[in-house]
Amino acid sequence: MTTPERMPPLPVSQWPALPAHHPDTYPECGCRDLPEHILYVQASLLRRAYDAQHRDLNDYARQLIELERALDDELTTRDHYHELLDQFAYSVAPESVIGEHSSGNCPWANALEILAARTAH
Ligand SMILES: [Zn+2]
Repeated sequence: MTTPERMPPLPVSQWPALPAHHPDTYPECGCRDLPEHILYVQASLLRRAYDAQHRDLNDYARQLIELERALDDELTTRDHYHELLDQFAYSVAPESVIGEHSSGNCPWANALEILAARTAH
């Protein structure tokens, strides 16, 4: 692969019309010719896109941290109520009667059935 020679700068009189945003949008551009200006604009656009994605990533990271905290809170609340319901169920009947949690058994439902049967009489 050959490296192309750098083209000599185009005389100003032959420059295509500069984009309307120049120099208003890029007043800091210190270009000496149109190719330099185009490179500067392209680099600026890439930088803006990168910065925008970086901001998005930071926003997502903050949201993720908030969601993880919220999930932790919910799990703590769930564990608390699980504990309370266990205490309630085993105060109604011992584990030998209502069993323990498994895919086929719910001591909470068993305790409720026992309570319902007691109050029905
Ligand atoms: Zn420029």
